[in-house]
Amino acid sequence: MNNRLSWECYALELAEVASKRSEDPFLRVGAVALREDNSVISLGFNGAPPGKTIDWSNRDERRKRVCHAELACLRYCIPGEVKLLAVTLCPCSECIKQIAMYKISKVVFRDYYDKDDFAPKLAKEFGIDLIQINNLTSSPQKETFDSAPYYEFEIID
Ligand SMILES: [Zn+2]
Repeated sequence: MNNRLSWECYALELAEVASKRSEDPFLRVGAVALREDNSVISLGFNGAPPGKTIDWSNRDERRKRVCHAELACLRYCIPGEVKLLAVTLCPCSECIKQIAMYKISKVVFRDYYDKDDFAPKLAKEFGIDLIQINNLTSSPQKETFDSAPYYEFEIID
């Protein structure tokens, strides 16, 4: 029995760590991009653009200004070099567009974002595999993702 963490769970754990750097008091999100050889290209978390400040006191106002973790992570990537993007929260539709622009075809996430039902539809349209992994540390995963306990994200129409 191989108890090694899968690369998908490894990336998601790193995303979890990155999210802890976020200063958003309402929602902390982290993202990690892996290359073909599973080395880390970059990490990112949601927050203000570098050198800028956001008033975090109003939940709705801050939403208009905060840069998503995916964007923070992808700014260090070259289109085509990302094999896997791991995000602690299911990407929104805007981020799905970005993900498609970077030619990323596989995204794993932990929590579903129920405020953007269009995102999974758009991911499917763009040929992006959107996979939820919700039991990260409780049971170690096998190295091959195919045999790891995960389920494909279902689109509810
Ligand atoms: Zn987003």
